Amino acid sequence: MKIAIETPFEQFQNDIADVVRLFYGEGAAVAKEEPHDAVLTHIHALEGTKWKESFSLSGMLSHPALSLSGEAVSDGGLEEKRQLKRLIKRCAYLLLKEVTGRRPAWGSLTGIRPTRLYYQQMEQGKTRAEAREALCSLFDLSEEKIGLLDEIITAQEGLIKRPPHACDLYVGIPFCTTRCAYCSFSSGEIGNGRLVEPYLDALFREIDLCSEMAKDMGLDIRVGYIGGGTPSSLSTAQLDRLLVHMHQRFGPLEELTVEAGRPDTLDEEKLSMLRSHPVTRISINPQTMNDRTLQTIGRAHTAAQTVECYELARRLGFDDINMDVIAALPGEDYTMFAYTLERIAELAPDSLTVHTLAIKRSSRLHEQKYRQQEEDVARMVALGRETAHKMGMRAYYLYRQKYMAENLENVGYAKPTSICRYNIDNMEETTSVLALGAGGISKCVMRQEEKILRAPNITNIEQYIQRVDEMVERKREAFAYKAAFLSRMAEKGDGHDHQR
Ligand code: SF4
Repeated sequence: MKIAIETPFEQFQNDIADVVRLFYGEGAAVAKEEPHDAVLTHIHALEGTKWKESFSLSGMLSHPALSLSGEAVSDGGLEEKRQLKRLIKRCAYLLLKEVTGRRPAWGSLTGIRPTRLYYQQMEQGKTRAEAREALCSLFDLSEEKIGLLDEIITAQEGLIKRPPHACDLYVGIPFCTTRCAYCSFSSGEIGNGRLVEPYLDALFREIDLCSEMAKDMGLDIRVGYIGGGTPSSLSTAQLDRLLVHMHQRFGPLEELTVEAGRPDTLDEEKLSMLRSHPVTRISINPQTMNDRTLQTIGRAHTAAQTVECYELARRLGFDDINMDVIAALPGEDYTMFAYTLERIAELAPDSLTVHTLAIKRSSRLHEQKYRQQEEDVARMVALGRETAHKMGMRAYYLYRQKYMAENLENVGYAKPTSICRYNIDNMEETTSVLALGAGGISKCVMRQEEKILRAPNITNIEQYIQRVDEMVERKREAFAYKAAFLSRMAEKGDGHDHQR
């Protein structure tokens, strides 16, 4: 089904298209000029103090207009745009819900971070129960998803408020041994490793310059994350040098995660080296425990290697190990996913991230025109949740991406003592991040202004190596802006950059 959208608001065209995709899938919303089966027509009116939105369908999906009214906001700014967008999306959603007889689990909500909406309700002075009720009626969220949000808000209690100068450190290693079929990151295959040493030289320079900058600006860095790519695709000596260098420049961190994602990049020597550093958490990611799928998705390891590697890490004393799995991988049905979860439960990691496959445009699966499997995905995701609960974990963060099967979500579950602060900070965007390495995106969070200034590093590895000083300058400008903002706040007598 191809549906063309007619709206007086060009700026909301994509938002309405998101709603169309919720019901009719990827590629269903097309431009008016393209061949289509139906037209979704939007009419906007101002009646007294109220906006009135109407949506109707003509063509193959003929349906009379459905209208919704809402109190008009006329501040000419962000709030006006937000409220109008919400009303428009809700109206389009209700019409398509009526036409299809379907109710998506996340209702009309197409955003990346649903928890933010929950927090917004609470910031307006609502109790938890009132916030839940408001979300249900505003977005038609299912009980199940409200329950999930509720679990996350509870897990984040006491962790979400950070002082204004708090800043997390991210270091990216953009190399992997092979490229996963679903990967949309800019990471390169490590190949013969010719770029690794020049990359590390550039990275060390960025670490040196940024640690000085962090000191000058009084950034309080206690949480770190080495991600990628696959950081453990570096040799033991290279990774050791990196950890030593980070420690020398930034001092000891209270929390430091190293994504040791691929079991084929780990051995006793490398894991022992990681243990000799103050690394508090590692991630060993099976994605699936089915060997055939591992081959299909281009991962150069077996399920047996995952088990071996996990057991070795435990023997060496790692007491905070995360595992990632992906629901709806190519060729996997519910039974195969259930098998993966059973095997994971036997291993008993400290945290589990349950992803739903998203086929991004830059992935090999997209190139191969792989059609997403929609059947049973919701059941798989629900089983992931059940398994995490059985292992004594609770959901503590979630995010949604475009192109996910059934528009579902990625959820991080953890035992209460294994909550990764970086993940909360990063997903909720409540704390600034100093991101180093190719593709890292630094964020300066100024919640009082509802503003996040981003300073992205270039993703191309060779370009990054040549232009590292420029990357540092971008960050310096962004953090200087935040420093000036904080001092303006302090002058006004409000020294707090209201972090939730
Ligand atoms: S391990 Fe991650 S970054 Fe590397 S290829 Fe796979 S999905 Fe991409």
